[in-house]
Amino acid sequence: MAEPTLAERLSSVRAAVEDAAARAGRSADDLTVIAVTKFHPVELVRELAALGVRDFGESRHQEAQGKAEQLADLDLRWHFVGQLQSKKARQVRRYASVIHSIDRDAVVDALWDEPPVDCFVQVNLSGDPGRGGVSAEALLPLAERVVAAPGLRLLGVMAVAPLGEEPRRAFARLREASERVCDVAPEARAISAGMSHDFADAIAEGATHLRIGSAITGNRPTRG
Ligand SMILES: *Cc1c(COP(=O)(O)O)cnc(C)c1O
Repeated sequence: MAEPTLAERLSSVRAAVEDAAARAGRSADDLTVIAVTKFHPVELVRELAALGVRDFGESRHQEAQGKAEQLADLDLRWHFVGQLQSKKARQVRRYASVIHSIDRDAVVDALWDEPPVDCFVQVNLSGDPGRGGVSAEALLPLAERVVAAPGLRLLGVMAVAPLGEEPRRAFARLREASERVCDVAPEARAISAGMSHDFADAIAEGATHLRIGSAITGNRPTRG
């Protein structure tokens, strides 16, 4: 059987997103699909842009910066979804429209006086402090610090579903975290959640920004 083309994979993902939205009683118009293109060449990003994709996700600064430079002729929105080092934060802000991975005071402070950028606070749903994201206990103080920072506009919360747990249950906890953040930042209602294998569960639990990689791009090339 022939491998599906990029256009075919993209349209199946779009159809599955619409399905999941309909089942959740939501409109797919309220969802942003971010194509995560990490490890893939700029040519693939160009192909997706030609198919109407505008939102792209990357997780490594060097790679993201290079792609943003090489594709500056296109009108794209770059979403930084990877772990963010505070000493790189200002460089990331220069090309990123949205930073999804604010998880420490040091990153907030690095961006404090910069021109404003949209962001999510990343929540750790795994209970393992080695994973990215802020713990449930530290979430509100961090969200308040982001709200106070002139250089950051808080859109909401972001998370990755932990391995070894039903994603829907994890996303239900993220929804609760989102509600707590909305108590202190009523505008910050967005939820960045859902990847190739769990975006339907994320949509069912209120996700607004889906970060979908391999279901659109096909398998990632092994990293060099
Ligand atoms: C790679 C990545 C994704 C996309 O993962 P897929 O399983 O390929 O859809 C989403 N979010 C983050 C933070 C990632 O690093």
